[in-house]
Amino acid sequence: MATTVKTVARPAGIRRQTYLIAIAEGLAVTFRHFSKNFVGSLFGRRKHTDIATVPYPEEKKPYPERNRGLHRLMKRDDGEVRCVACMMCPTVCPAHCITIVPEESPSGTIEKRPKIFEIDELRCVVCGLCVEACPCDAIRMDTGIHAAPVLRRADAILEKDDLLSRGDKSTATQGGAGAFWREKAKSS
Ligand code: SF4
Ligand code: SF4
Repeated sequence: MATTVKTVARPAGIRRQTYLIAIAEGLAVTFRHFSKNFVGSLFGRRKHTDIATVPYPEEKKPYPERNRGLHRLMKRDDGEVRCVACMMCPTVCPAHCITIVPEESPSGTIEKRPKIFEIDELRCVVCGLCVEACPCDAIRMDTGIHAAPVLRRADAILEKDDLLSRGDKSTATQGGAGAFWREKAKSS
């Protein structure tokens, strides 16, 4: 198929070509909001709901109940990481921002654990799929903490120790209810 070029005519009329009227309209909107906020604050009539922004960090808006904060890695009863390096979360992650290098667990109660567990918070799209995919309740996004601004790219990568420092013991049963859960449920 032949490629054609569509020529678009320049906007006609002095109003469209100079943008002066558009600039004046924009300035009028800015001045209207400025005078409304300034006069309102002078007489104490400026309400939180009147303005689109808040003077952060002095004032903070409450987060929605299902807000997703920075990740954390949960711990087992013995303080070890709950993660068994099953690789479900890096597989499901659409941003490919989770890196796990597994190693054999010395505890003997689980087969594997992560030797390296890193999350690149600058690539993360905060979808929460890693939390949904985890079969061990090992990773959560319920810290309520924002990703902090960083000066170096490498500082945005959270390592295992960072993630564990925000973790806590999970109330979930490690490995689920275990074998014969139907029989146990019937007898209880
Ligand atoms: S929240 Fe989504 S993008 Fe971020 S690490 Fe988890 S799966 Fe990946
Ligand atoms: S899904 Fe859970 S257990 Fe599996 S690697 Fe990710 S954090 Fe670890």
